Formats: sequence, C-alpha cells, structure tokens
Amino acid sequence: MSTPFDPRNHVAGPDELRERAIAITGAGDGIGRAVALACARCAANVILIGRNSRKLEAVHAEIGRAGGPEPSIALLDLEKALAGDYDQLATGVLERYGRLDGLLHNAGILGTLSPIEHYDVPTWCRVLHVNVTAAFALTQVLLPALRRSTDASIVFTTSNVGRRGRAYWGAYAVSKFATEGLTQVLAAELEGIGPVRVNALNPGRARTLMRRQAYPAEDINTLPPPEALTGPYVALLGPASRGVTGGSFDCQ
Ligand code: NDP
Repeated sequence: MSTPFDPRNHVAGPDELRERAIAITGAGDGIGRAVALACARCAANVILIGRNSRKLEAVHAEIGRAGGPEPSIALLDLEKALAGDYDQLATGVLERYGRLDGLLHNAGILGTLSPIEHYDVPTWCRVLHVNVTAAFALTQVLLPALRRSTDASIVFTTSNVGRRGRAYWGAYAVSKFATEGLTQVLAAELEGIGPVRVNALNPGRARTLMRRQAYPAEDINTLPPPEALTGPYVALLGPASRGVTGGSFDCQ
C-alpha cells in the first residue's frame, strides 16, 4: 500500500521547480514573500503578484541577489481589480511564459474579530471579496494558461478556522470555509480531464503581520517564521504532488 501524500517535512531540492512558471499572490510580505523566495531558490520563474510595488520590487531584488531566475512583477489589488486588470495579467503571463505551471492563492485579509451579530457589513464584503471572489476570478482567467502546462498545480490557502468554526472569527473563518469548498468543487471539475490539480494548504500559525493583528498580545518570537514553512508549499506547487488533487493539507 502506498503512503498517502503529506507535504510536511518536504525538503525542497535546488532544481525542483526548474522551468516552471509559478504565480503567487500576496508575494510582497509574510508567507507569500517567503514562498516566492523559496520557489526562486528551486529555480522557478516566479510571478510576484501584489498591490504594493515597493514590497514586490524588494522581493524581486532579493531573488536577483540570490542568483535566482529573474521574476516578473504583476501589480494587482485584489480589492479593486476589475475584469480588464485580470485579463491584462493573464495576457502578460502567456506572452512571457507561454503557460503557467503553478498558482498559489496566498493573499488574504483578516477583517475584524467580532461576533456575527455585530459584524460590520462592508468589512464582511471586503474580506469575502479579497479572500474568495478575487481568488476565484484570478483562477478563472488563468485556467487557459494552466491548461497549457503538462503538470499544473493550483494551491489555495486555508486555515484551521476554515475547517471548524470558531466564535468571533467572522468573515475570515467563513472565507476559509469557502476556500475549502472552492478547492473541492474545482478539483472535482478538473479531475481526470487535464493536467491541473487543485489543493488547499493550511500554513498554521506563522510569524506575520496577520497573526500579530489576530493575536496582539502574543509573543511573536514563539511562532515559526514563514521561511520555516515553505517546504510544503514547494511540494504542493511542484512535481512532488503530481497526481494529488482535491486535498486539504497542513504545513505543521
Ligand atoms: P500577511 O498579512 O503577512 O500577508 C498577506 C499578504 O496578502 C500581503 O502580501 C498583502 O499585501 C496581501 N494582500 C492583502 N490584501 C491584498 C489586496 N487587496 N490585494 C493584493 N494583495 C493583498 O499575512 P500572512 O502571510 O500571515 O498570510 C498569508 C496567508 O496565510 C493568508 O491567506 C492567511 O489567511 C493565511 N494564514 C496565515 C496564518 C498565520 O498564522 N499567519 C495562519 C493560517 C492561514 P500587502 O503587503 O500589500 O498588505
């Protein structure tokens, strides 16, 4: 009997993602930044997607200093982007790479921690839009490029609160339940008809701005830095997870 796939403790090899074009949202900070650097160390052509050009340029420069393949920068504010912005990104990917081999939906916002009874409605809409609707729209527009790969992987970012509801986590928790649902629906639609697999990955607690926002009194130094969590992302984005689809996995 074969062992079930588990991305934890995956140790990424230096050439593991060579010749693969991998797009990452929220690549300027936190986990997205760490995964972008890790993918470039594995020789991937990374497409850095985000809303803050200064942060993205800093990651671009860091990859250059480390001797990685030159990445692309795609400015996209997931709260404000319109159809034309998504189309422009997809056209740019096809023009530069001819296909897309990996897509990591990492960008996200926390919103507020508040009881449902008092949850601010505009904040609810913003969180659901950035965390779910924008990821859906980006997936849809990039599917033609993903289909041109021989081994493509879409990874959505989930969370413990997207698997079991927790009081006061409001729109964020609901958005992560929706992310799990989107992963399953899309994986079922694509299974057996092409090269695109779809999975969800839960980083677990990590030393980032979002975690600090959620737990302001916590000693951040007790948490793993994002750099310590990148192995499972490389495993799911690259050849190590070939044939695995519809799953929801953990980094820790
Ligand atoms: P950070 O807040 O550090 O990073 C979030 C990223 O998303 C940033 O790059 C941010 O860009 C980007 N982003 C936010 N809003 C937009 C937008 N409108 N358009 C484009 N990009 C945007 O959080 P983490 O690194 O911790 O989170 C990464 C993912 O991991 C999220 O999906 C989160 O839900 C998930 N997660 C995190 C956990 C943790 O403990 N940290 C635990 C479980 C899940 P900018 O820098 O411009 O703000």
